[in-house]
Amino acid sequence: MHPSRYFSADYREARERFLAAASRTGATPVAETNPAAGPSGETLSTDVLRLGPTDAERVLVTISGTHGVEGYCGSGVQVGWLESGLWREAPEGVAQVHIHAINPHGFAWNRRVTEDNVDLNRNFPDFDAPLPENAGYETLHAALCPAEWSAETIAAAERASEAYAAEHGPLGLQGAISGGQYRHPDGLFYGGARPTWSHRTLLSILERELAGARHVGILDYHTGLGPYGYGERITVHAPGSAAEQRVAQWYGGDFTNPLSGTSTSAVLAGTNCAGIERRFGERALTMVALEYGTEPVPEILEALRADNWLHRHGDPATPLGREIKARIRNAFYGDTDRWKQDIWERGIDTQRRALAGLAGS
Ligand SMILES: [Zn+2]
Repeated sequence: MHPSRYFSADYREARERFLAAASRTGATPVAETNPAAGPSGETLSTDVLRLGPTDAERVLVTISGTHGVEGYCGSGVQVGWLESGLWREAPEGVAQVHIHAINPHGFAWNRRVTEDNVDLNRNFPDFDAPLPENAGYETLHAALCPAEWSAETIAAAERASEAYAAEHGPLGLQGAISGGQYRHPDGLFYGGARPTWSHRTLLSILERELAGARHVGILDYHTGLGPYGYGERITVHAPGSAAEQRVAQWYGGDFTNPLSGTSTSAVLAGTNCAGIERRFGERALTMVALEYGTEPVPEILEALRADNWLHRHGDPATPLGREIKARIRNAFYGDTDRWKQDIWERGIDTQRRALAGLAGS
């Protein structure tokens, strides 16, 4: 059976398949309903399935859809893991919590952001402290987010980006754009002014599910960086920390860390990992993002700029709107059998290693 069959064509199908696969495990999923609606008026929810002992000290958590449209990838692995019965491989005493579509609005609307234009993986700074500054983004914002979408404004954004890269290098440009910013609610990679719904929902799910846990492995599924179909295991635990050492041990040294300059990802502000560490730091947390490649970074960024313009100034129901929506979906979903097979194999290998790591900790 080809693993591509686990992957869905839209949020609605992904949710139905996750719930159907979940029900066959004998456990009952819990739905957290998002206040907004989907493009066809459908209910949007984050669905949570817990398997294994309720008092487990060791828990594996998987998360799909942190970045909405990236949810096709993680959903496919979660659905396949449940449908194929691989979930039964969990060692005795290790529980699993599968969180499907933590940003259901972004998933359903094929957007990377939440219903309030927030990048969920930049929405976990310490909101009681001064928010992170991003001087690079300040210089680029006007060019990146024009009021008109035309050949001229696209070229102007490219010129501004090239000029910035000439001075700061390609990763400097990537960091300025994608590192996170807290000043432009209508801009790109906006980290928000307060915890958004998906942020609060994630922490409340973890409060509930990790009540008895001492050792927690977390896998957060992402797409859009790195070689096509390749899954980079990215950790943002502090370099040299016990948590990073566990990542190294569990995954045989096969991981990267932006804080050490070894990742395709820029250093990010306000990550979910930082927020989870702040809240659940007394537990032994071992977290990686699995980041799968789709298209080259400049194409990803242009698709994001177009989508930002569309939802701010345009109309998704026009021919241009449909073209932009197709483009952003393709930018984050390598919708081919080959890509899905690569996603599946690396995802399963990573989940198995996490379970083994938890059992041995
Ligand atoms: Zn992502």
